[in-house]
Amino acid sequence: MTSGTMINQNKVDWLKSKIRDIPDFPKKGIVFKDLTTLLNDHEAFNFVVEALTENARGLKPDYIAGIEARGFILAPAVAHKLGIGFIPIRKPGKLPHTVEKISYDLEYGSNTLEIHVDAAEKGKRVLIIDDLLATGGTAHAACQLVEKIGAKVAGMSFLVELDFLSGRNNLPKGVEIFSIIHY
Ligand code: AMP
Repeated sequence: MTSGTMINQNKVDWLKSKIRDIPDFPKKGIVFKDLTTLLNDHEAFNFVVEALTENARGLKPDYIAGIEARGFILAPAVAHKLGIGFIPIRKPGKLPHTVEKISYDLEYGSNTLEIHVDAAEKGKRVLIIDDLLATGGTAHAACQLVEKIGAKVAGMSFLVELDFLSGRNNLPKGVEIFSIIHY
């Protein structure tokens, strides 16, 4: 399912012009989308946060969850704009209280993610934000973590989606997926 907010194609092209391709990072064969050159531009960064926030409003989340590490750049900015709480989904061993955890495969390697068991009350709506949707392994794991603690996934939003990897096919059916930029 794709959600409503439409972004003007000229704006998308403008944002794309701010993203830098780094070939063979972090390993051979991966073309890494370096978003630091977009985030570094205050107009581009502001536009992205506004677009994610506008889309988030329609999903009526109670919390915004961000996935470590690059999800921590965008998700708290959106939570702040909406006046709601932020939930960190973190790499193993970082969260100090009782956690739920899940392991999954990445486009390059594997990873484990954790969430505090009491990060959201049962039934609350959690919108998950990350910088980039590739194979969908990370986003899927984040969905499962939110559900494991008894909350509901209100949707998932990304700055960039790599359409050629079909990551959204790996996400639960019926979850609203919004990406500003598609490759
Ligand atoms: P995936 O689990 O395959 O969807 O990978 C998504 C996560 O890995 C995101 O948190 C991204 O930060 C990172 N990632 C994967 N592939 C790339 C890429 N080509 N360029 C930049 N980041 C990537």
